[in-house]
Amino acid sequence: MKFGGSSVAGAERLGRVADRVLAARNLRPCVVVSAMGRTTDALFAAAHAARDGDVDTALATVAPVLGHAEATAGELLGGADARATAAIAAVRDELHVLLRGVAMLRELTPRTTDTIVAYGERLTTLLLAALLAQRGAAVAHVDARRFLRTDARFGHARPQREAIAALVAEHVAPQLDAGRIVVTEGYVGATAEGHTTTLGRGGSDWSASLLGAALRADEVQIWTDVEGVLTADPRLVPEARPIPVLSPAEAAELAAFGAKVLHPATMQPAVDAGVPITVRDTQRPEGAFTTIDPRGGGRRQGVAALAMRGPVTVLTMTSTRMLATSGYLAQLFAAFGALDICIDLVVTAEVSVACTVEPDAPLDRLVAALAGLARVDIARDRAIVAAVGEGLRDAPGVVERACRALSPTNPELLCFGGNDRNLSLVVPREHAAAALQRLHAEFFPAEPARRAARNPAHAGAVGRPLEAQS
Ligand code: ADP
Ligand code: ASP
Ligand code: MG
Repeated sequence: MKFGGSSVAGAERLGRVADRVLAARNLRPCVVVSAMGRTTDALFAAAHAARDGDVDTALATVAPVLGHAEATAGELLGGADARATAAIAAVRDELHVLLRGVAMLRELTPRTTDTIVAYGERLTTLLLAALLAQRGAAVAHVDARRFLRTDARFGHARPQREAIAALVAEHVAPQLDAGRIVVTEGYVGATAEGHTTTLGRGGSDWSASLLGAALRADEVQIWTDVEGVLTADPRLVPEARPIPVLSPAEAAELAAFGAKVLHPATMQPAVDAGVPITVRDTQRPEGAFTTIDPRGGGRRQGVAALAMRGPVTVLTMTSTRMLATSGYLAQLFAAFGALDICIDLVVTAEVSVACTVEPDAPLDRLVAALAGLARVDIARDRAIVAAVGEGLRDAPGVVERACRALSPTNPELLCFGGNDRNLSLVVPREHAAAALQRLHAEFFPAEPARRAARNPAHAGAVGRPLEAQS
C-alpha cells in the first residue's frame, strides 16, 4: 500500500491512512509512504538556499516542515510519544548540520541533495509507524536504504532489482512473516556503499512496485487523491472520469506523456512479477478505482485516456544532404547522444527532421555540433497532447476525429503509428489545455446526466479556434 504526498498531509489524513492500513491488516500489508504535502519541494528549496550561502533562508525553509511534523505528532499521538518527538528533533539536528555545511562550502552535490531531500519521507514513516503502534498494531519501520539498492546516479538513481529481491527477502519479508505491518519510505534508496539516493520526483510509486514485485505481493495499491486513473487530468478537464481497467502499456504510456498520477517506471517491476496495480482514492476507499492488469488489455479498441506534457521544444533540422543519402540520421542523432539530449517525438520529411526535446536541453551546444550538417530552427514553449489506448492504430477514424476536434487549427507536429497505442499532437503550450478539453469532449462525450452539469464555458469553447480560447 503506497500513500502519496496529499494522502499523508496532516494529522487527520494520516489518521485515515492508519484506518486503511488497519482495515487491511489480515492481508499483511507493507506500507510505503511519500513525504507530506510539499515537504520535498521545501527540502529542495532549503538545499538550494544553502548552496547560495543563505543559511538563514535555508533554516527558515525547513522550519515549517519540522514544525508541521511536530504539530502532527502532537495531534495524532497526544504529545505523549517521546520517541517520535525525539526522532523529529534528531531529524532537525541532522538537517541543520547538513544545511550549514552546504552553506559554508557553498557547494551542493547531487549526493548531498539526495541525503537532504530523503528526510521528507523519513518524517512520514516515523509518524505513521508511531500512530499504528499506538493503535495497537505490531509495526516494524524498515529503513528503505536497507533494501532499495540502486546505482549511484544521485537524483535519478536506477534500482538494482536482483539485489533488491535478496535484500527484501532478508529485511522485509521476515517482518511480515512475524505478523508485523512494515512501514517504509518511498522515493529513497541507497548504493551498495550505503550512500542515500533518490529515484527522481514522484518515485514513491516506483518504490512500491519494486517492493511489491520483490515480495510477490497479491497487489500493489497506489493510494492517492483521485479515484484511479481518469480519462484526463481532472485539474485540466473537470469532467474526466475513472477508467476501470488499463493495460500496463497504456498506463506507462500515459505516465510518460504527463499523467502524473503514476511514475512512468511503476508498471514494469509489478508486471514482470505478474502483480496487479490498483490506483485508489484515500478519501473515498469505496469509490471507483483503476486496475492495471499485468495480463494486458485487449478489451477495447480506441482512446482510453488523454495526457499532456509541456513545455517541450521543437527542433526542425533541415539539410539538402539528407536527400537520398544513407546514414544521415545516424550522424544527426549521434550529436544528440554525445550531448546526452533525449529525443522524444520524431517526424521526418524529404530534407528535414523535426523532433521534440526537453526545454532545458543544451541547444547552443547542439546547434554548434550540427553546424555543417543541418540548419536548426527552434520553437520553444510547445506541449504534447497525447491520446493513448490499446489498438489505437486500427481504431477507425481516430486521427480524423482528433484533428477535427482541434480544427481549424492544425497540430504543429503529429506522430502516429510508432506504436499501437499513441497519437501525439504538438501544439503551442498556451493552447494545450484548450486542445486537451476539446479532444476530451470528442472522445469522451458527456453522458446526458452529466451534460446538464457541464461547465458552460467549456461547452462553448468547442468549435472555436484554439487561439480564441486562450
Ligand atoms: P501522490 O502525491 O498521491 O503521488 P500525485 O499528485 O503525484 O499524487 O498524482 C495525483 C495527481 O495526478 C492527481 O491529483 C491529478 O491531478 C494528476 N493526474 C494527472 N493526470 C491524471 C489522470 N489521467 N488521472 C488521474 N490523475 C491525474
Ligand atoms: N516525495 C517525492 C516527491 O515529491 C516522491 C513522491 O512523492 O513520490 O517527488
Ligand atoms: Mg505521485
